[in-house]
Amino acid sequence: PEAITVGELANRMAERTSDVVKELMKMGMMVTQTETIDADTAELLIEEFGHKVVRVSDSDVEQVIEQAEDKASDLKPRAPIITIMGHVDHGKTSLLDAIRKTRVVAGEAGGITQHIGAYQVTTDNGSVLSFLDTPGHAAFTSMRSRGAHVTDIVVLVVAADDAVMPQTIEAINHAKAAKVPMIVAINKMDKPSANPDKVRTDLLQHEVIVEKMSGDVQDVEVSAATGAGLDKLLEAIALQAEILELKANPDRAAMGAVIEAQLDVGRGPVATVLVQNGTLRQGDIFVVGEQWGKVRALIDDKGDRVKEAGPSVPVEVLGLNGTPEAGDVLNVVDTEAQAREIADYRMKAAKDKRAAIGAATTLEQLMANA
Ligand code: GDP
Ligand code: MG
Repeated sequence: PEAITVGELANRMAERTSDVVKELMKMGMMVTQTETIDADTAELLIEEFGHKVVRVSDSDVEQVIEQAEDKASDLKPRAPIITIMGHVDHGKTSLLDAIRKTRVVAGEAGGITQHIGAYQVTTDNGSVLSFLDTPGHAAFTSMRSRGAHVTDIVVLVVAADDAVMPQTIEAINHAKAAKVPMIVAINKMDKPSANPDKVRTDLLQHEVIVEKMSGDVQDVEVSAATGAGLDKLLEAIALQAEILELKANPDRAAMGAVIEAQLDVGRGPVATVLVQNGTLRQGDIFVVGEQWGKVRALIDDKGDRVKEAGPSVPVEVLGLNGTPEAGDVLNVVDTEAQAREIADYRMKAAKDKRAAIGAATTLEQLMANA
């Protein structure tokens, strides 16, 4: 649903299709009038044509529970949140698995890691990094369009034996649109046909200038297969994170984003939540999207029960009254009555909206305001 044909986009911007196709070509994408492009590419393109992009905002209720600004003195450093993106088969999943494994071998407690959609690792130098275990552009885009900004750093994986491909370009556009810094992981370096410099020169055409080409985007050669370069990649991420000076206030009611959620036969609705600010605790009452609940249990990425989860920590949350959607925002509130009222309001508002727009997609609403 997060896509639009080139022809339709040109139509909505009141621009000539041939001009739009030409602009896309400049961005390195060979597409015809009838082909679709994704929301982030469309957003960049709209800006290129000098139009304004207005993302669909949330209901009035959202404003009510929007968090008050933190005092600078209350802010403490937090771990960076990292999303891995890149072309299909370039090794996103393998890299996530390899990073998790090297760190487990390196002495992390827990042994076999339970899959909860995100995990944290500690580098040799002691930096903590949170990885979103949801590689793929669809997840990134859908979360962003739902208002959940859950990525501080994008690791762009490019296979050294394949170089820059269409989804590599898409990933670059996603990162640029979200204004998230990028680190390039040149993967599959163990392959005899690996040609990392081809990757570097290819990236130049998309205005990604890596350090080896005298730019300021860090590039690290890795192999998910052998584990080579992974520690260097983790240090590159930690360095980038340091520059960002990421902070949050652990001493407040929690807010976070749903990474994934499902209805579990034995445990009921379960959501993996990445806490973004504050600390989520057992017993907390919360509203999440159109659902609400009271935290019955929190389970960390090692499968252990924990009493609380602070900023940048992913946890599985039990105690929901319904199943939320990935990208939904969780807010802790004071009372059950309040949680119920907000959730009910949102459910009704969403129903009204669906009825009003019929089959229109989020992207189309976005474009309507362009
Ligand atoms: P994704 O689609 O980006 O998630 O890619 P996958 O992680 O599924 O990897 C695609 C294929 O490439 C699989 O067959 C992997 O085993 C292989 N692969 C991934 N990383 C490496 C690597 O560093 N070296 C080699 N030789 N193969 C790799
Ligand atoms: Mg994969």
